[in-house]
Amino acid sequence: MNNFTLLISFEYVHEAHIVQGYLESNDIIVFLQDVLTIQENHFYSNAIGGVKIFVHESQIEEATHLLKAGGYLAENGGDLVSKVKHYKTERKHRNICPHCQSKNFAINKKANWLTVLSYFIIGSFLPVYSTTYHCFDCREEWKWSKADSVENKI
Ligand SMILES: [Zn+2]
Repeated sequence: MNNFTLLISFEYVHEAHIVQGYLESNDIIVFLQDVLTIQENHFYSNAIGGVKIFVHESQIEEATHLLKAGGYLAENGGDLVSKVKHYKTERKHRNICPHCQSKNFAINKKANWLTVLSYFIIGSFLPVYSTTYHCFDCREEWKWSKADSVENKI
């Protein structure tokens, strides 16, 4: 573990294994942390920071370059997932991507930290989800919120 640095983390175990295989096929030595914890109980993923991929310090630059080339990191070094944008519109207009007007998108529901908090307070999980949308054509992610016009009518 000495001289290893955190490279990237993922919410799901399978995402980390895909990147692990990609990096190892390019002769990068990696190891994963918290895989079994998150496999056992996925609700812990957000609480403990996801599945972490560590890389030796001597290979961190090469690994970062590979992640950017593979589309796992943005060019500025930020996580692509953190590029979620917010749009306001009425519910009936939420059937297309706001960037490219494509209908080829998916809805991602992720349990947020309130789910884990409910476990510690009442001893049971009360799933509280955060919903984001991902477009397969332009690869953008976004969230919808209520349009202002609805509030103005009151
Ligand atoms: Zn799109």
